[in-house]
Amino acid sequence: MLEQYYELPEGLLNAKAETLHQVLEKPSLIHLQGKEPDPLFISTLLHGNETTGLYAIQKLLRCYQEDTLPRSVSIFLGNVKAAEAGVRRLDEQVDYNRIWPGTHQHYLAEAHMMQQVTDIMQQKKVWASIDIHNNTGKNPHYACINKLQQSFFFLAGLFSETIVYFHTPKGVQSSAFAELCPSVTLECGISGEEGGIDHVLQYLKKVLSLDVLSECTDNNLKLFHTVARVKIPEGYSFGFEDDATINLLPEIENYNFCELQQGTPLAFVEPESSAYLQAFDDDEREVGRDFFEYLDEKILLKKSVMPAMLTMNTQVIRQDCLCYLMERIAKPEL
Ligand SMILES: [Zn+2]
Repeated sequence: MLEQYYELPEGLLNAKAETLHQVLEKPSLIHLQGKEPDPLFISTLLHGNETTGLYAIQKLLRCYQEDTLPRSVSIFLGNVKAAEAGVRRLDEQVDYNRIWPGTHQHYLAEAHMMQQVTDIMQQKKVWASIDIHNNTGKNPHYACINKLQQSFFFLAGLFSETIVYFHTPKGVQSSAFAELCPSVTLECGISGEEGGIDHVLQYLKKVLSLDVLSECTDNNLKLFHTVARVKIPEGYSFGFEDDATINLLPEIENYNFCELQQGTPLAFVEPESSAYLQAFDDDEREVGRDFFEYLDEKILLKKSVMPAMLTMNTQVIRQDCLCYLMERIAKPEL
């Protein structure tokens, strides 16, 4: 399933996400040599409609067309088929960011491919790992980590002062690579926006020029911990108009990274439908009762929390989730 390259494939720098399949037929791992041998691993397009990473990488490599890279890089371009269609994943595909080592679905062919990529990078003594994503709601740019360690804070803090620490979902790229090296997931706002591409480009240049990932001295970092992932039960219709069983309030899109008070309404439900929201904790236990209450056909927050990745994109809500719920935590003294 995996293709490997040891030089830049012809046409890669000018391909659009939709035409990338003409250059790379399948998920591809591209190794480029730089002055420092231990490679920086950059992965993107694990979700086919999240294009900021691809365009930032193209700009980065254009800067080094005449020059040697300061450090070797290995670039993984994931779901080129979904990118062609402009979707997160094709209906018949699994989510390419749920099948890395640590996944519950390790028997899948795609999971073997991600294991292979991980093994190759371990052999190459991967130095650090950056996985680049977008989301569909109104979110600040932020970085996610899976370990509370200085080098992780440093790598994340170079991108944003807003850092999210998470354990679920399982099988994501950043948590697999956290076992090998400092590792982050970047969430770069809406896909393809110039500001996001430029932010990632500057970040990658900065990281590539570093000799060591030193201690994080930034005391302004805001650290959040995800406590639950919110899903809409399969059996219920939902939307943002008034015609579904669960009618989400359009203003929720503005709630990302806002501390919401207990009692904040999130949705109206059809009378006598007994519709509800699900919330899953790190152990995949359904804990919706801890977070939501139901009053006068409304779904309200039962406790104060901060959501992330709330979106009005109904396909994303169905394929992934409605949002994550977070709590602010203090950065530990390390
Ligand atoms: Zn993504």
